[in-house]
This record gives sequence, structure tokens and C-alpha cells, in this order.
Amino acid sequence: MLIYDLNFPSLEKLFKEWKQPAYRAKQVWQGLYQHLYNSPENFTNLPKSLREKMEEKLTFAPFKVSTYQDSSDGFTRKTLFELPDKNLVEAVLMRYGDPADNPQITAAALNSENLRGAKKRRTLCISTQAGCAMGCVFCATGQMGFKRHLSSGEIVAQVMFYAQMLKDENELVTNIVFMGMGEPFHNYENTMEAIDRLNDSDGYNFGARRFTISTVGLSPQIRRFADEKRQVNLAVSLHEVDDDKRLAIMPVNKRYKIDNVLEACRYYVEQTGRRITFEWALINGVNDTPEVAAKLAIKLKGMMCHVNAIPLNPTTGYNGKATDRQRAHLFKETLEQAGIPCTIRMRRGIDIGAGCGQLAGSVS
Ligand code: SAH
Ligand code: SF4
Repeated sequence: MLIYDLNFPSLEKLFKEWKQPAYRAKQVWQGLYQHLYNSPENFTNLPKSLREKMEEKLTFAPFKVSTYQDSSDGFTRKTLFELPDKNLVEAVLMRYGDPADNPQITAAALNSENLRGAKKRRTLCISTQAGCAMGCVFCATGQMGFKRHLSSGEIVAQVMFYAQMLKDENELVTNIVFMGMGEPFHNYENTMEAIDRLNDSDGYNFGARRFTISTVGLSPQIRRFADEKRQVNLAVSLHEVDDDKRLAIMPVNKRYKIDNVLEACRYYVEQTGRRITFEWALINGVNDTPEVAAKLAIKLKGMMCHVNAIPLNPTTGYNGKATDRQRAHLFKETLEQAGIPCTIRMRRGIDIGAGCGQLAGSVS
């Protein structure tokens, strides 16, 4: 049994079955999520016999760290995990806001509260599935097909792995995005359970507002998520504004057409009062023209939203090319003139296959 699969009541139940005093579960919970212990031997506050029992009955490492790679600039680290059934998943750490990352920003400015975007961030990009069933043609995970869902504990364990690593460097995880391998809303329960476990104020206490879920646009789950009124950020991968064109690159559009998805998005904004993000991978000559931007602006009109555009990352199975800087800028300008805020995102970790949509569970 993987210890990270247990929520607090299940841990309490287990320790009760083991005839342990009631406070033991709390000690273990705090050890795991506050002190970031990753092996029974770390729990020196527990009797030896109990540590041995934990060693025998519980798994602390759901995967083997197969390999990790650092980008040449040193700000991105990708780790490849091997699950017991040999499936491979990847998770990425991105460091932002360090002086060397932003040469124009001085160390003094880094400490200034009001310099937006310059503050140090440690963002984890986490996987929710091995592979993905959605088949978006431009995405390496989609190209490999669906292997299986990850359990809540397998999702939590990716975070704990990096949290432990950063702790050794006296640093903390500041943001968690579910933008790794897989479609989080296709594995809804396990993803939400993982969030709840990490959010627990007696445990890891990671603020709901610092999570972002990215979905390919599964309308019923967007509505369900809206009804749950979570504080977690939501991003929806749109990439096209015309149904036929979206269908050509995203098979999910057969089931959930653009207007259907956008209706669910409007419902989300109404229910939660939260701004929604739309993701847009800019593909040269495909979805990056001012005409497309103008059409998109009409579709999004009146919705509290923001567009995150990112030049396409290369993958072996798709021969579309990334939009250049100038076209990307024009796309952004066109949207903004029509009243839709847009950010062009920096590409990170491309040299190690750690960019958006490049995770394929392999060493590159
Ligand atoms: N399945 C979810 C989350 C994982 S993908 C989703 O699709 O939203 C995270 C983001 O990377 C999505 O916006 C996805 O569309 C985008 N993406 C996929 N392949 C990409 C590529 N080759 N270049 C840039 N972004 C890509
Ligand atoms: Fe799956 Fe997201 Fe990749 Fe599409 S972009 S195949 S939904 S991981």
C-alpha cells in the first residue's frame, strides 16, 4: 500500500487496526507532509517496532527515479519516474525569477514586492496519467496514447519528490500546475484527491490558489469543477476557434464543440467569480494570424478571461512549426486591442524535451 494514497481518515483507520494510540496517525501525517520524511527510518519519534511495521506494510516510493535532466540554462529540471508496472511518467521543475534567469533584473529588484513576475518561483508541472487518451496531434503525450490513470498517491508523490529536493536547497515549491502528462479531468477523482491531500492545513498546507489545472476542455467536468467552487485556477486548452480546424488537431472536439466548451467556461466564471485562462499553442500559419485572433476575441467577448499563448514546442509526431516572435506579438496585439488580455509565454526546457506537450516518458 502506497502511503501517499491514504488520506488522513484512512491513515487513522489503519493505525487503529494496528492497535496504535490515536495520536500516531497525526505524527505520521506531520512527518510525511510537514517534515517531508520519505522513509520509515526518518520517523525517529515513533517506536522502532512501528517503524518496522511501516517498512513491511507500506510503500514510500511509488516509483524509481529513472533519470533526470537539467536544461542547459539550469532553470528547468525534468525527472523521469518508473512505476512498478514499468510505465514511465515525467514531472518538471521550473525556476523563475532568479537574477541570472533575468539578467535585466538586479538582486535588489528581486526583493522588491512590486516588481511583477520577478519574484522567485518554483513551479512544478505534474502528471496525472501515464500517456493520454485525448490524442491531440501536436502533443507528444497524445502521440504515445493512453497507458493508465495515476492514483492520487502517485500524483502526490511527484510533488513530494521535488519538495524534498528543494528542501535540501532551502527552497519551497511555490506553484503546482497539472500540465504534465495526461488529462486531469479524465482522471478527475484522483486529481482532486491529490489536491485535497496537498492542501490539508495539518499537512503540506499548499494553498488552493497556487494550483492550476489545465484541461483539454471536457465540458461536464468543467461544470462539475465550477459547482465544487474550488479556489484552484483553471486553464482550458483551446488552440483553435473554428470547430473543423480544432477537430483536425484535437479529436476531443468531436464530442465537445467549441461553443459547448465556452458555455461551460462561462458557467465556471459565473459560479466561481474567478478568471479563466485559455491556452493557445501558436502554430505558424495555422492558428496565429490576426484574423484568427480577431475571431477568438469575438468568441471570448465579455468573459473574465486571459489568453496564454505559447509558441508550439517541437514533437516528433507533428510537423507544425512554432510562430516567430513578430507574429506572436501581432496575435497578442490583435487580441488586446479587442479587449482580451494575452501573455506570450516563455518556452522552457525545450532542449531536454521538458516543454509543454513534449513529455513522452522517454529520455531525450
Ligand atoms: N491535458 C491537459 C494538460 C496537459 S498539456 C491539457 O491538454 O490542457 C498542457 C498544455 O500544453 C496544454 O495547453 C496543451 O495544449 C499544451 N501543449 C501540448 N502540446 C504542445 C506543444 N507541442 N507545444 C506547446 N504546447 C503544447
Ligand atoms: Fe492529452 Fe493535453 Fe496532450 Fe491533449 S495536450 S494529448 S489532452 S496531454
